Amino acid sequence: MSTDYRSLIPTLSYRNQAFINGKHVPAASGKTFDCVSPIDGKVLTRVAECDSEDVNRAVAAARAAFEKGSWSTCHPAKRKKTLLKFADLIAKHKDELALLETLDMGKPISVSAGGDIPGSIQCIQWYAEAADKVYDEISPYRPDSVSLITREPIGVVAAVVPWNYPLLMASWKLGPALAAGNSIIIKPAEQSPLTILRIAELASEAGIPDGVFNVLPGFGESAGQALGRHMDVDMIAFTGSTQVGKFFLRYAGESNMKHVSLETGGKSPNIVFADAGDLDHVAKVSADGVFFNSGQSCNAPTRILVQDTIRDEFVALVAKHAKPWTPADPLDPKTTMGAVVDRDQMERVLGYIDAGRKEGATVAAGGAQVRQDTGGAYIEPTVFTAVQNSMKIAQEEIFGPVVVAVAFKDEAEAVRLANDSIYGLQANLWTRDVSRAHKLSRQLKAGTVVVNNVWGSDITNPFGGYKQSGIGRDKSLHAMDKYCQVKNTFIQL
Ligand code: NAD
Repeated sequence: MSTDYRSLIPTLSYRNQAFINGKHVPAASGKTFDCVSPIDGKVLTRVAECDSEDVNRAVAAARAAFEKGSWSTCHPAKRKKTLLKFADLIAKHKDELALLETLDMGKPISVSAGGDIPGSIQCIQWYAEAADKVYDEISPYRPDSVSLITREPIGVVAAVVPWNYPLLMASWKLGPALAAGNSIIIKPAEQSPLTILRIAELASEAGIPDGVFNVLPGFGESAGQALGRHMDVDMIAFTGSTQVGKFFLRYAGESNMKHVSLETGGKSPNIVFADAGDLDHVAKVSADGVFFNSGQSCNAPTRILVQDTIRDEFVALVAKHAKPWTPADPLDPKTTMGAVVDRDQMERVLGYIDAGRKEGATVAAGGAQVRQDTGGAYIEPTVFTAVQNSMKIAQEEIFGPVVVAVAFKDEAEAVRLANDSIYGLQANLWTRDVSRAHKLSRQLKAGTVVVNNVWGSDITNPFGGYKQSGIGRDKSLHAMDKYCQVKNTFIQL
C-alpha cells in the first residue's frame, strides 16, 4: 500500500451535520455528540444529534422528492448513469473515506482501503447496472385479458445501519433502494457516522436530486425509533442486533405497518469433520474468518464444532493461527487486527470472556485487553475450548475476537448442535465426503451454507438469515425486489 494515510489526517475535514434535502444542516435542537476514535479514545469531532424533529424534516423532503418523480419515475438508464457517477466520485475520494472509516471505527487501514471502500463502490455500481436490466412480467392469465405484474418503488425507505462495516452496510441498502427509484434516509450507527455523511454530498454532486438521499446521525432510541414509528416512512431496512430488529417489528406494528427487512445477528457454526483434509489450512481459514474485523462480522464463524477425535489437535492449530491477529496500530498498513469499535463494546466482550471462564471453558489463546497505553479499545484474539453448546459464550453473539470450540461425535450430533441456536445466518462445513456435504447442507438452518471455506459471499449472492438472524435478503437481485411493491394490472381485451 503506497498511500501514507497518517500524513492525510491533518487534511481531513469532518462532515458532522445531518444531510437533509441536499444540504448539510445542524440538528433542529442544535445538539451534538462526541465522535470518539477507538484507536486512541480521542474525540474526532462533534456530530449533529438528530431526533424526531429532524426525522420529520427528512421524511418530508424524501416524500416530496419521491412525489415529484425526478428520481422515482425517471428513465431507469438515467438512474444507472447517476449512480455510476456516484460510485466514481466515491472512488475518487477513496483514500479519504478509508481513513475516515479507520479513524471512526478502528479497523485496519488495509481493510478499509482494500475491502470496505472498494466493496461499497462495487455494490453501488452493481445496482446501478441492474437499474435498467430488470424486466417486469406478464402472467399466463385468461386469453381475453392482459395481466401485467410490475414493480414500483416503495417510496420513502429508512435504512438504519450498524457500525461494523459502516459504509458497506449502508451501500447494501442504498444501492438497490436507489436503483429501484426510492428516496432514502440513512441513520448511521452513533459510533460511525463519518463516511456516510461524507458521501451524502457526493450523491448530490453526482446528480441525485435533493431529498432523495438524506443522512440523519443520532442515537437509536431517538432518531432510530422516530424513523421506525414514522407514519410516512414506507419501509425500514435494518441491519444490527436481533434485539433492536425486534423493536423495529414492534414500531411498524404500532404505526403504519411499514415494510421491515432485518439483517440481524449470528453465531455461525463452523463444522470440522476429521475427514476435512489439511487441518492446518482449515484452522488458518477458520481463524482468519473469526478474527477479521476484530470478530465484528455478523457471519463470522464463531462457533467451531469439531469432531471429538481431532478436537485437541485442531484447537491447537486455531490457537497458532490466532497469533498473527494480535492487535496493532490500525493506521499501520501491516496491521491485521485493529481496535474494537469502542470501550463499551470492549467491556462487553471482556465480560463474555469472563463468563466463559466462570462457566468452566478453557482459554486456549488470548483472553485479555491489550495496548492499554494507547487509550484505545483492543482485545487479544481469544480461543475457548472445552465449551458446551449450552454455555452463554456458545449461545450469545459476542461480536468481538472470540471463538469457541465444541466437540461432537457424529453427523447427527454435528447438525443438532449447529441448529441449536436462535440464529441462522451462515453455517460452514468442512469435509471431503461430497455426499455428506450435500446431505448436511440441506439440514443446516442457515441463509448461507459454505462448504470447505468460510468465505462465500459477494454482491452476486443473496445474504440474510433464517430464524432470528433476520427477514429478507441483502445483495443480489433479491435485494432489488424488497425495495419494490409488486403491482398487478388487468386489462380486459
Ligand atoms: P445495534 O442493533 O445496537 O444498532 C444498529 C442500529 O440500530 C444503529 O444505527 C443504532 O443506533 C440503531 N438502534 C439502536 N437501538 C435502537 C432503538 N431502540 N430503536 C431504533 N434504532 C436503534 O447493532 P450494532 O451494535 O450497531 O451492530 C452489531 C449488530 O449488527 C450485530 O448483532 C451484528 O450481527 C449485526 N449485523 C448483522 C448483519 C447482517 O447482515 N445480518 C451485518 C452486520 C451486522
